[in-house]
This record gives sequence, C-alpha cells and structure tokens, in this order.
Amino acid sequence: MKRFTVKDFILATSPCFGCRGKLSYAIVCVDLRPEIMLTPNYKTLVVSSDYSEIDLKISYNAGLKLRIYHKTNRFWSSNFKEFSKFLESHQLYLHTGCDKCQSQIDSQYLVFNLAKGFILPVGISKEHISLLDNNNIYSIFNDTMRNETRVFIKTRDMKKSLSTPTYLKLPLLFLHKFKTKNQLIDKIKLYTLFS
Ligand SMILES: [Zn+2]
Repeated sequence: MKRFTVKDFILATSPCFGCRGKLSYAIVCVDLRPEIMLTPNYKTLVVSSDYSEIDLKISYNAGLKLRIYHKTNRFWSSNFKEFSKFLESHQLYLHTGCDKCQSQIDSQYLVFNLAKGFILPVGISKEHISLLDNNNIYSIFNDTMRNETRVFIKTRDMKKSLSTPTYLKLPLLFLHKFKTKNQLIDKIKLYTLFS
C-alpha cells in the first residue's frame, strides 16, 4: 500500500475528488483509556506552506501544540514530556472532509518516532465518497481493514427511486489511483457488467 507523509496526504487528497472543492483537515484523537467513552475528537489541522499545526489541548495555563514540518515529516511539540504522555493514552490519525459533498478520507494511525522526532509515512484507512453521473448516484466506501470497496448504486430516476440499490463488493479502488471521478465511475460500470 502507498504510504504518505503528512504533506503528501494533504496533496494527494486535495482538492476534493468528488466536487473539486476545498477540503478541511483534522487530526483525530482517539482516547484509549477504558474509562473514557470512545468518541473520536476532531482537532482542526491548520495547514501553512512549511508546516501543519494543531492544538491538542487548549488550557488557560499551557496548551499542547503539535507541529509537523512538511519537508521532513518531523514534528515539534510545545511540551515534549506532556506530548509523550498524551501518546500513551491516545491514537492519532489524519482526516480530510469536504463540506460540500461530504466526502471523507481517514489515514491509518500515525506512528510517532519519539526518539528521533519524526512521523512514519502512513497509509489510507478509509475513504467515503458519493459521485454522480447523469443516471446514477454511486456511494463508495473504501475500507483497507476489510481490503475491499463497497459500492451502492442508486438510480437518479425519480420514478424508480424506491428500487433497491445495486450493491457491489470490489477489490480496493483507492481514489488517488484515479485521475478523475469519471475514470472511477467507468471502472465501477465495467465491474457491473460482470457482476
Ligand atoms: Zn467535495
């Protein structure tokens, strides 16, 4: 599987594959402590030209900032000891989302090399997108855990809109492997011919 630095993940996913719109980026913090309810916590990733930065904790006294440098994938935190402690109880992953068409991409968990101060390149975990052509709506779920793509195809014809969607289980169709959404739709259509 292809692996990405934080910068490459941002470049590979933008603009939005579905609508060419602007995406927003986040790092999602999953609290691993059993007493905490497993609710992923989305922290906005502020992307500038040289680095991306998030506030892991905001407090009156001292927050906890994490910065990732684009050129090297090295990271810096405002309090190294606190950040190491944070990582003991949290897993972090990258997330992109489109406000316009609701497409979403998640990376796998980020692996921080604390001794050397860099993040290992990371693969894609999940992608979800809905695409339209003249006739259909394609809801596409790429899932690397299950190593498959699930596609639901629903007609846009109002008269037939209550008919059951076609469901396909396919080999993984990563979005970054396709130049345009029409290429991806064509590939799906090709599979429907043989299903
Ligand atoms: Zn979009």
